[in-house]
Amino acid sequence: MPLKSVALAHIDSSWVYPGDEDYRGLLKENDLTEETVARTKEVRGWIAAQKIAALPEDPEIAVGPQCHDPFDCPFSNYCNQGIPQPEHPIELLGNCFRARRTGNGQNGDGRRE
Ligand code: SF4
Repeated sequence: MPLKSVALAHIDSSWVYPGDEDYRGLLKENDLTEETVARTKEVRGWIAAQKIAALPEDPEIAVGPQCHDPFDCPFSNYCNQGIPQPEHPIELLGNCFRARRTGNGQNGDGRRE
């Protein structure tokens, strides 16, 4: 069903019941059509991700750079199960090695190397 508009209704806390079952004005509506349409692409991404999450089997994707960029994935512990991990990971040495690993030419604090 195509949407004509999107609005959020909330109770007007300044409203006073006039009696006679007249509730006009109790709810105030804010038109959010423009903001909603602007986020259509983002919402389509959420729906696509939910379809993947609902699959009965895990996707066949190996851990890699996508697990930390643009953010650390919360499923990292799960996906790394059974994968041998270094006893002393390079991350223990601090941010100075992060720039080389990511190749962005900056230290972990944003300064140029
Ligand atoms: S840790 Fe996250 S990004 Fe990396 S493979 Fe697993 S689910 Fe994908």
